[in-house]
Amino acid sequence: MTTKATSYLTHFRNIGIAAHIDAGKTTTTERILYYTGRTHNIGEVHDGAATMDWMEQERERGITITAAATTAKWKHSATGEEYTVNIIDTPGHVDFTIEVERSMRVLDGAVAVFDSSQGVEPQSETVWRQADRYGVPRIAFSNKMDKTGASFELVLSDIRERLGAIPAPIQYPMGQESDFKGIIDLVRQRAHTYTNDLGTDITESDIPEQYMDKVREMRAALIEAAAEVDEDVMMKFLEGEEPTVEELVLAIRKGTVEKKIFPVLCGSALKNKGVQLLLDAVVDYLPSPLEVPAIRGHIEDSEETRDFPADPEGKLAALAFKIMADPYVGRLTFVRIYSGTLSSGSYVFNASKGKRERVGRLLRMHANSREDVTELRAGELGAVIGLKDAGTGNTLIGDGDEHVLLESIDVPE
Ligand code: GDP
Repeated sequence: MTTKATSYLTHFRNIGIAAHIDAGKTTTTERILYYTGRTHNIGEVHDGAATMDWMEQERERGITITAAATTAKWKHSATGEEYTVNIIDTPGHVDFTIEVERSMRVLDGAVAVFDSSQGVEPQSETVWRQADRYGVPRIAFSNKMDKTGASFELVLSDIRERLGAIPAPIQYPMGQESDFKGIIDLVRQRAHTYTNDLGTDITESDIPEQYMDKVREMRAALIEAAAEVDEDVMMKFLEGEEPTVEELVLAIRKGTVEKKIFPVLCGSALKNKGVQLLLDAVVDYLPSPLEVPAIRGHIEDSEETRDFPADPEGKLAALAFKIMADPYVGRLTFVRIYSGTLSSGSYVFNASKGKRERVGRLLRMHANSREDVTELRAGELGAVIGLKDAGTGNTLIGDGDEHVLLESIDVPE
């Protein structure tokens, strides 16, 4: 439920990017961080060379631009509203399956990246099943549309056949392979044409006539799928009326959260095509922390459980999900705060270890900087400096609070 205290959470998205190795997860993440890093100066840096320079510099300095959780800001291209997007690193290798499972716990939604010349590959299937087990809502990004052999239809049919899910294309590519020029947004009914590979020259226009038949057919299917999950859209559908963009977006988000709709997008991360639209889709279709089920805690020595809905004024419930050694500050404990507020300098109780611990500094990690903050609120992710004993998977609660353990991170059967 949205209250005054939780209203900031409607503009939060905690996401992971999952992919088969080589599908383009790193490239997509880099581009996302580049574009989000630029939102504060929209209109200022529109020089494609800057994209590459920045990435090169990061590489040379050896900075891992993807910390366990990176906080970015995104201003939706169509609505102009600003969102906080936390990107949680999800390892792509099968060897790290346990780590993948762990990261699934702390995200509210995921972007599955596919190589559109390969379709759905075996490792993508594994990650998809893990996301299923954790009930993680997903959107799919059919990447590498510029590559020889790229086929949007292949990705759609593989999602159907290999993953057993019903794809809901919300975009349609204008051209494929070396002829890939742009993307049609089926929801807002706009065409986005890219005239260079740097993502610096994008034209938005009406849909070109040659695509209209295809677009009408695909849009009708999308509206029908949305009507299945949303009564308002259904009413309009039955009366032969078009839903508004807002109604359609809300219905698709509802269907995505209920895992009945899998929105599919397309683009080319390498050629900077479709990354801004992917970010728009993240905020349009993936849920805020208020739209996912509250995390459950088990009360120590009892059969009872307690739910912790996202609320900064609630009791503290946080999960340590990654420990990293940092050359400058020592041990960094990455946490997700589900409920309550974690303050720097406060004491917390590590319910997994049965130990009281002092929180030193708190950091919010950005792509190329770290920000010292005094608190992390429900729904936020960040790193704690100063915790000596906390290990991966430990539950942190308020000092003196009833002892609860957040749902075990064992792989559910
Ligand atoms: P990851 O293993 O999933 O992180 O994949 P990478 O991002 O490292 O990409 C793997 C390879 O695919 C690299 O050589 C990239 O340059 C290339 N690649 C990534 N995205 C695209 C794309 O959109 N088009 C093409 N043609 N190549 C891409």
